[in-house]
Amino acid sequence: MSQPYRHYEVVSQLVQKAAAAMKLDPRVKELLREPMRTLKVSIPVKMDDGSIRVFQGFRCQHNNVLGPFKGGIRFHPEADEDEVKALAALMTYKCAVVGLPYGGAKGGVLCDPRELSEGELERLSRGFIRAIAPIIGPEQDIPAPDVNTNAKIMGWFVDEYSVLRGSYQRGVVTGKPIGLGGSEGRDGATGRGVMYVIREAAAAFGLELRGATIAVQGFGNVGSYAAKFLHDLGCKIIAVTDIFGGVYCKDGIDPYSLKEHEMRTGSVKDFPGTTPVSNEELLALECDILIPAALGNQLTGKNAGSVKAKWVVEAANGPTTPEADEILKEKGVLVIPDILANAGGVTVSYFEWVQNNYNYYWSAEEVDQRLERIMVDAFQAVYKAYAEREEVDLRVAAYVVALERLAAAMKARGWV
Ligand code: NAD
Repeated sequence: MSQPYRHYEVVSQLVQKAAAAMKLDPRVKELLREPMRTLKVSIPVKMDDGSIRVFQGFRCQHNNVLGPFKGGIRFHPEADEDEVKALAALMTYKCAVVGLPYGGAKGGVLCDPRELSEGELERLSRGFIRAIAPIIGPEQDIPAPDVNTNAKIMGWFVDEYSVLRGSYQRGVVTGKPIGLGGSEGRDGATGRGVMYVIREAAAAFGLELRGATIAVQGFGNVGSYAAKFLHDLGCKIIAVTDIFGGVYCKDGIDPYSLKEHEMRTGSVKDFPGTTPVSNEELLALECDILIPAALGNQLTGKNAGSVKAKWVVEAANGPTTPEADEILKEKGVLVIPDILANAGGVTVSYFEWVQNNYNYYWSAEEVDQRLERIMVDAFQAVYKAYAEREEVDLRVAAYVVALERLAAAMKARGWV
C-alpha cells in the first residue's frame, strides 16, 4: 500500500519472465497486459449522525477466458486501484495454476471498517454491491471475502443482490455462512492447501518433514490453520508472530494451545513456555521453512539477506518483493510462490459455488479430499514445468503453467 513500486507492474514483470521462458504467443501476452475492465464507483452512505459520506470503491476484472471472474473484496483505507488491479491479475494466474474454471477479479472499498458502526457497515456493503451489480453474478463475476470483509458481509451481499434480481442468488458470492450455502472446510482451506503443497514439495525436493522446524508470520486464518496442519504432519512450529508480538520455543509450540491462548488474550504474546521474538527476528530465524502468512511485502531488499530458512512458503499474497526474490535465489532459498501455496482458499470457494449450483452439499471429508487432489495436481504441474526448464524458479514455473492454460483457452475460444 505504501510501497515504493507499482503492484501491477510487479505482476506484469513476472508474466514477462514466464512468457520468455516458454516462448508465449505475443498475442496472448498482449491480451493479458491490462485488465478487461475496472469499474470505479461512488457509494453514498447515510451515517448514523444524519450526515452523508460518499465512499469510493473498485471492481477490477482482469481476465475471464477460463470462466466467470472470481476474487475477494477488501475494505481498507489504503485500498487503491493499482493494488486492486494487481490482486485481480494474481487471481487470474492463481485460478489457472490450480485449474479452476474461473477468471481473476478483485474489489476494494476505501474505508476503515473500525470507524463504522454495524449499521453504517451494512449500508456501505449493500451500497457497494448495488453499485457493482451490473457486472457481477453467479455466471459473470463472483466476489468473496478478503481483508476486513467476512461471512456476515457476504450474507448482506447475497441478500441485496437477490432483492435486486428478484430471486434467491446464493451463488453470487462465496465465503458465506454455512446456513446460507457456505461450504464445510472453507475456514481451514488455505492453511490446509499450504500444508499439502509443503508435503508434496518435501517429497520432490527431499526434505524430512518429521521434526522440520517452521516459523510462521501471522496467526490469523491462514497462519494458524497452516501451523496446525503442519504440526499434525510432525513438523515443529518453533516461532509465531502476530501484529502485537511473537513467541519462540526451540522445542516446538503446540499451535492448538497457542490458538486458544490467542483467542483468550487477543495475541500470541506471552504464551507460557516461550520467549518473545520480534517480527524481524522471526524472518531471520534459523529454520527449515519460513511461512509469511500476514501481509504483502514482508521480505524486502533490506531484510532478505538475513533469511536463514531453507524454504520460504508464501501463504500470504505477495509477501516477497522482486528484490527479495533475487536475493533469496542467490542464497539458494527455495521459494514456493503465493499463486500455488495459498490457492486452497479459492479452490474451496469454487467448491462452494459448485455446491450452490447443484443445491447439494458435501461433507467436510469430501471437501478435504477434493482439495487435496487439486493441490497435489497443481504442485505436480508446477514441479514438472520447473524440472523441464533450466534457469526457472518455482515462481516462474507456476506462471508458465498458468499461461499455458490461459493460452490454450484463448486459442480454443478463437481469441488468438
Ligand atoms: P487474518 O486477518 O486472519 O490474519 C492476519 C494475521 O497477520 C494476524 O494474526 C495479524 O495479527 C498478523 N499480522 C498483521 N500484521 C502483522 C505484522 N506486521 N507482523 C506480524 N503479523 C502481522 O488474515 P488471513 O486471512 O490469515 O490472510 C493472511 C494473508 O493470506 C493475506 O496476505 C491474505 O491476502 C492471504 N490469503 C488469505 C486467504 C484466506 O483464505 N484467508 C487466501 C489466500 C491468501
